[in-house]
Amino acid sequence: MNRVAMLSLHGCPVARLGERDTGGMNVYVLQTARALGEMGRRVDVYTRWHDPRDEQVMSLGENARVVHLKAGPYDRPKGDAHRDIPEFLDKLYAFRRSEDLAYDVVHSHYWLSGAAGLTLADEWGVPHVATFHTLSRKKMQSRVGERESELRACTETAIAGGVDAIVASTRQERDDLAHLYGVPAGRAHVIAPGVDTKLFRRMDPQAARAALGIAESKVILSVGRIEPLKGIDILIRAAAKLEDISDVRLLIVGGSPSSDPEVERLRQVASEVGIGRAVTFTGKVDQTELPTYYSAADVFVLASYYESFGLVALEAMACGVPVIASRVGGPRTFVRDSVTGYLIPWQCPEPYAQRIEMLLSNPGLQASMGAAAEAEASKMGWDSAARGASELYDSLAAAPWSYAAGA
Ligand code: UDP
Repeated sequence: MNRVAMLSLHGCPVARLGERDTGGMNVYVLQTARALGEMGRRVDVYTRWHDPRDEQVMSLGENARVVHLKAGPYDRPKGDAHRDIPEFLDKLYAFRRSEDLAYDVVHSHYWLSGAAGLTLADEWGVPHVATFHTLSRKKMQSRVGERESELRACTETAIAGGVDAIVASTRQERDDLAHLYGVPAGRAHVIAPGVDTKLFRRMDPQAARAALGIAESKVILSVGRIEPLKGIDILIRAAAKLEDISDVRLLIVGGSPSSDPEVERLRQVASEVGIGRAVTFTGKVDQTELPTYYSAADVFVLASYYESFGLVALEAMACGVPVIASRVGGPRTFVRDSVTGYLIPWQCPEPYAQRIEMLLSNPGLQASMGAAAEAEASKMGWDSAARGASELYDSLAAAPWSYAAGA
């Protein structure tokens, strides 16, 4: 069980992050592939070639590489990428033959890869592990107006019924898999993702603010893809309810401010509630620069309606910043309410405003919660996520009923 074919059809591990379709999953695939490689597994990540400037094969670290397969046009939007699955498979078979490779396990990420993985694992007679990252049925339940295709929901059901094991990021996701997709107990394994504790470290806040040219003495931060599900409008409305906004900067990192209609909508919300001048949309920021943004913040806010894990909240914690998050998904498991930040069970601005006010006006509380957050995040490196996956691969190889045993 040494060679892993990791499928990430639409989430390239070397893609630029923070755009509409690039975020946590790309990071997850990159970091687990690297950590598994460091443990001695040989990992090939197969992804759709989306940028002609990338080499076909690129190293991700020791024993880990990404293989770009030309399936469909480079700029195919995620919503149409299912059309590329047959060509993706053809190219993958050809690459495998050209290098005479044999794999011991297929690990697929997201439903598009899960669909390809069903075919591959069946053909190769090896176990198939799937990580969904997000579940369409759960997404649609979480916010009025969220739409996902019937094709996606049906394919997710087929994957859930056809794989040997599923990796869920939280117990909540495992329960959702059981209730919404009928996944039997024992098939879904909870393995929490992690945070790059070498990259995400606390810096001096004043130096960080100076580096970013922030003049205000209080900073509220949000980082991530810009989409309605992230509840950024709730944060903007909460900031508008603060007693005194004159010395506060609300930094919203992610997306493409010059072209994204959702950024435009959020700008309008900010000006409607009268805080347009206090809000900065920075656009996407290279991940290596994010520790400066996190370190400049007094408080990090993630008001998402749905969050399968929410890596950004854990990154903020690793930089010593208290987190105020909606009580969903990952944050619910790693934000300790009233210890490392606050969990908010309602999707409305008032409780966020209250908690933000509390932290901004109480530096002692902010410092002690920040320190507790940092300590909590330091226990969650990617190596433990990879160890969990590795143990799962071994258990499938050993199981008498597994595909690998030909049962
Ligand atoms: N990210 C980044 N630059 C940005 C915005 C986001 O590097 O401008 C990264 C961030 O560090 C995090 C990931 O994108 O690792 C977002 O992951 P998260 O789980 O928070 O959200 P998702 O994309 O899965 O919804």
